[in-house]
Amino acid sequence: MTSRDGTFDYLKIAEIVNQKGDWKQALDEILECIFPFFIFDNIALFLHNQTKSDLTDILYARAVGRGKSSGPDLAWGSDIARQVIQNNTIVLEEPSNNPPNSDRLKESYLLGLPLITSTGVLGALVFVRFAGPSYSETHLIQARYIASQFAGLIERKNLNEEINALHEASSMIALQDDFISTISHELRTPLGFIKGYSTTLLRKDAVWDEATRHEFLSIIENEADYLTGLIENILESSRLQSDTLPMQTHLTQLDTLIIETSARIQSVVKDLQIDHDFEVRPVIRIDSLRISQVLTNLFNNSIKYAPGSPIKISLTESPDFYIIKFSDSGPGILPEYLPNLFQRFYRVPGTGGSGSGLGLFICNKIIDAHGGKMSVESQPGMGTTFLIKLPNNHASNHERENHDHEDTDS
Ligand code: ADP
Repeated sequence: MTSRDGTFDYLKIAEIVNQKGDWKQALDEILECIFPFFIFDNIALFLHNQTKSDLTDILYARAVGRGKSSGPDLAWGSDIARQVIQNNTIVLEEPSNNPPNSDRLKESYLLGLPLITSTGVLGALVFVRFAGPSYSETHLIQARYIASQFAGLIERKNLNEEINALHEASSMIALQDDFISTISHELRTPLGFIKGYSTTLLRKDAVWDEATRHEFLSIIENEADYLTGLIENILESSRLQSDTLPMQTHLTQLDTLIIETSARIQSVVKDLQIDHDFEVRPVIRIDSLRISQVLTNLFNNSIKYAPGSPIKISLTESPDFYIIKFSDSGPGILPEYLPNLFQRFYRVPGTGGSGSGLGLFICNKIIDAHGGKMSVESQPGMGTTFLIKLPNNHASNHERENHDHEDTDS
């Protein structure tokens, strides 16, 4: 086999490997660079399957020449790849003879080379030529060079993946450390109240009038309720983390659910201003308790982090979703913190008051479990808006009728 015009540029290939951050782009560029000098129709990179040693996983494959039109007959050389990996050797497979009148395009010339790194054979690189010509000595040398460069690229890709996994694990550990200190604080504060007020009530040297006793007992009850809620949130967040929280869906009038949840909040926080703006009033299949839980959490957050701010809730429709927009005009959140807001245990740095960083994580998981999407928009000083998108798979007329009957029956 003879080279086409120009020379095989070893240096250029090494430069691409060293300078390209993305391994796939690097592979594409190297192929562009070698193709004028090294003819092949198909190329495939196989990786040694770590769990099943007799299997290979395909990492990358491209058909460039005559292979493009071969359709389902495409040959990638997976058998050769297995041999190469098992024996750590170059394998060359060519048709023994060319009987006249045979369909030469069906004859593949396969060259398989091991991808060797410091840790052993990572996989195999296979070149396929339909109808030859045979691989020359020069091409074998060039192919070995390409295989060694590809091995380096893949080793770097694997290292990068390991580094990313380590980063993720260490940020998870940091988050868990934060969680332990947050939760310890969160548990200790109400326990302090409970202990303090009950010790006071039990003092033998003091007599409390009925009103004071009642006030102290109410504080104890409230703090115990807070603790119960906190513990439920922790348990729920870990169930949601492993996706085991069941949703019990039924047809629900969404606007009514929003109004009812708002009314419940307003019965506790009397001077809270809530504006509703509903463009649509849909009946959809949701777990109404869970969706109400999401709204309640958003209310509680606005009351905590945007005190005194009015709240606006709108309901609109897009082609695929009903969209609840929940806005306050509080202090807002800096843009760099927004991507973390739905992470478990995350609290914006410097946030005061009580909180465990579980609320928005739970909300997001609940919306996710409905096939919806939750997002946040905020700018410092301009308030915060949470968007809840729920799929608008419309209830059938029959379902609506049943829903109406349920309403009149109850
Ligand atoms: P928690 O309220 O228990 O801290 P959440 O998951 O509900 O946990 O909220 C995470 C963080 O998001 C809060 O700690 C707060 O920093 C920020 N946050 C949530 N809602 C608002 C809001 N309406 N305005 C400003 N910051 C908010």
